[in-house]
Amino acid sequence: MSQISGSRTLHRLVYCSRQRVLPADPEHEVGAIVRASIRNNRDLGLTGLLLAHNGWFLQSLEGGAAAVMTTYRRILDDPRHESSRVISAGPIEKRDFGDWNMCARGMGAADDAILATLSQGGQIACETLTPVSALRLLKAVRGIQARTEASALA
Ligand code: FAD
Repeated sequence: MSQISGSRTLHRLVYCSRQRVLPADPEHEVGAIVRASIRNNRDLGLTGLLLAHNGWFLQSLEGGAAAVMTTYRRILDDPRHESSRVISAGPIEKRDFGDWNMCARGMGAADDAILATLSQGGQIACETLTPVSALRLLKAVRGIQARTEASALA
C-alpha cells in the first residue's frame, strides 16, 4: 500500500460489471485480481477501490488519463467479468482512494446494511447507479476498509 500524491491531470473512471461465473472461492479470485492490480497499478501511478458483492464488481480507477484508459481497456478484455458499464469518467481535482494502488473489499452480511442505507436494497444495483450514488457507495466502503485496517494495526 502506498500513498500517492499529485493532482495534475488526474482522471477517475468508475464502472460496474458482472462476474461471468461465480467462483467456488470468490475471495481467492478477487485476491488474484488485486495482486495483479497492485503490481500493475503501482507502476502506472493508479489508485482505486474494487467492491465485489454478490457477483457484481464496482471499481474506481484514478490516475493519469492515459493510464486509466489503458488499464480499463485491459480490464474490459478480462474473461472473469462481463457487461461492464461506465458510470462516470472525467477529470478530478484529487484522489479519493489514494491510499491504495488497488484494494478490494467483499461485502459480507454485516455490510449489507450499508448497501441498504444507500438505497441499493442490499445489492449493487448496477443499472441504477448514478455517478453520485456509485461514488457515495465506494466512499462508504473506503471508510469501512480504513477502519478495518486501523483496527488490525491496533
Ligand atoms: P496476470 O495476472 O499474470 O494474468 C495473465 C493473463 O491471464 C491475463 O490476460 C489475465 O487476464 C489472465 N487471467 C489471470 N487469471 C485468470 C483467471 N482466473 N481467469 C481468466 N483469466 C485469467 N488489472 C490491473 O492492472 N489493474 C486493475 O485495477 C484491475 N482491476 C480489475 C478489476 C476487475 C473486476 C477484473 C475482473 C480484473 C481487473 N484487473 C486489473 C485484471 C486485468 O483484467 C488483467 O487480468 C491484469 O491487468 C493482467 O495483469 P498481468 O499482465 O500481470 O497478468
